[in-house]
Parts: sequence; C-alpha cells; structure tokens
Amino acid sequence: AKAAGRNTYRFFESSMQADALERMRLLARLRTAIGRGELRLHFQPQLDLLTGAVIGAEALVRWEHPELGLVLPARFIPLAEDSGLIVPIGTWVLREACRQAAAWQRDGLPPIVVAVNLSVVQFRHGDLVETVTDALRESGLDARFLELEVTESILIGDAETVSRTVTQLKSLGLKLSIDDFGTGYSNLAYLKRFAFDKLKIDQSFVRDMDSNADSCALVRAIVQMAHGLGLRTIAEGVERALLVEQLVALGCEEAQGYFFGRPVPPDEFAEFLARNTAR
Ligand code: C2E
Ligand code: CA
Ligand code: CA
Ligand code: CA
Repeated sequence: AKAAGRNTYRFFESSMQADALERMRLLARLRTAIGRGELRLHFQPQLDLLTGAVIGAEALVRWEHPELGLVLPARFIPLAEDSGLIVPIGTWVLREACRQAAAWQRDGLPPIVVAVNLSVVQFRHGDLVETVTDALRESGLDARFLELEVTESILIGDAETVSRTVTQLKSLGLKLSIDDFGTGYSNLAYLKRFAFDKLKIDQSFVRDMDSNADSCALVRAIVQMAHGLGLRTIAEGVERALLVEQLVALGCEEAQGYFFGRPVPPDEFAEFLARNTAR
C-alpha cells in the first residue's frame, strides 16, 4: 500500500509539472497571439423580452490557436490575467467590438448595443478610461451603443478609486452592467452609490429556475430589487422556453442564452440580426 501511495504521489507530481509546462507554452504563444491575428470575437444575442427584438450582443473572445484550434476563454483568460496580458488583449477586444458594432450600423443593420467584458485587472489599470475613449473615437461608435460588463470583484479595493473610474466611464455616455450578479461577496451598498445601468443575473440562478423554487425566489428578488433601484435586468444562460415564460412573468427585461442563440462569428451574427429585423 505504501508503494502504491508513493507511485500515486509521483504521478500526481509529474502531472502537475506537465500542467505547469503546458501553461507556460500556452502563455508564450498567447504573448504573440494579438500580433499574429489569432484572436477572434464571437457575438451572442441579447433580446428584449417584451418585443422579442435583438437589442444587444455580448462580445466573447476566442483564440484561434494554430495547433489547438478554437480555444475558449476559460483556458486563457486566467493566464492572461495573471501575466498582465489581459490589458493588451482587453484593449484589442474593446477596439474590435466597437469597430464591428459601428460597421454593422454602417451596413444598415438595426443598431444594437455591444457588451464587452472587462477584467478587474483592466479596471484597475490607469489607462482604462483613455483606452475606452480611443476605441469609441476610432470606431465612430456612439457611446450609448457600448456597454461594459464588470463583476463585483472591481468593488474590492479603494472605494475612491473605484468611484472615480465608474464616474469617468459613465461620463463617456456608455452603459455599465454588473456581470454574474449574486455570485460576488460584496455588500449591496455599492448599488446605491454607483451609477450602474443593469444587473446580469448569473446563469447559476437562471438555469434551473423552472425546477428549483430557491433559484426562482432568488431571481424574483433580484429583479424586484433592481427595479426598486431603477436598474434593468438581463437573465443569462436561458436555454429553454419555459425559462423565458417565467422571466417574463417576473418582469425581467432582457435575456441571453442558447435558447435564442449561441455565440457565433461576426458574419453569422450579422445574418442573424438581418433575419431578426425582417420579422
Ligand atoms: P461570462 O461573461 O459570464 O459570459 C457568458 C458565458 O456563458 C459565455 O462563455 C457564453 O458562451 C456562455 N453561455 C451563454 N449562454 C449560455 C447558455 O444558455 N448556457 C450555457 N451553458 N452557457 C451559456 P464563454 O464565451 O466561454 O466565456 C466564458 C467567460 O470568459 C465569460 O463569462 C467571461 O468571464 C470570460 N470572457 C469572455 N470573453 C472575454 C473578454 O473579452 N474579456 C474578458 N476579460 N473576459 C472574457
Ligand atoms: Ca459577461
Ligand atoms: Ca456572466
Ligand atoms: Ca462569468
């Protein structure tokens, strides 16, 4: 038994080394990914639950790795955050999302809001406001068509700095939403203090609200609280029609999820948008 234990330990150790090695290789390759044009944006529709119209799209980054194929953000965003690479990657995402949204408008597609994820690392980086300003100016996109999604993690840290950044971003005329709402650790006082526009109700509450009374109660409470504070709500991870009915009944304004559409490349999204308008 002792020998087996030692073997298990050794196996565990070497697999950890393999893992670290693999991450190092991935990171080295990620450093050159922007320059080589390997990053892509996919877009997922966000719908107005009252009218059924597509009113927005979340931009989700992908990495077209020459050997691994399409790499999802769960695999490289944490690496990018730890290494600081998320700053140039995030800047690329912002510029590309604004450029694409403006291009769709020029093509005569109905104007939609493009929602861009911001890492807490970007949020704390001194150049964020300038980066966003530049992305808007370069693309010619009106700021009201840009939404930034931040998580409650941005609230940890110096309240004055957070307050200043939020105020400066809001003064550009864009929208701010809280992503994964309900999964952070913060107290709720910040909702009173900062001018957010929208709460994105986390998938973990939405996914099973048709079968789990607790999930349903949480979604109902979040929607009611948001309305009391004058905030809009969007439900994430909507995969079934039954969820849509429930969300409408609770007064949730918007929804996003596989039921309406998966994240797709820009061309496919433009077709989706064109079809949706014709109806
Ligand atoms: P997120 O911001 O919460 O994005 C939603 C994730 O849920 C996306 O995964 C999306 O594809 C997935 N999703 C959407 N609808 C459904 C559904 O109905 N069912 C299920 N099961 N999943 C659904 P994705 O694209 O793999 O992104 C994962 C996370 O990576 C994002 O979570 C976000 O935290 C991060 N991320 C993605 N793009 C960026 C980016 O450009 N910058 C930063 N900083 N983070 C990003
Ligand atoms: Ca998001
Ligand atoms: Ca989310
Ligand atoms: Ca998330």
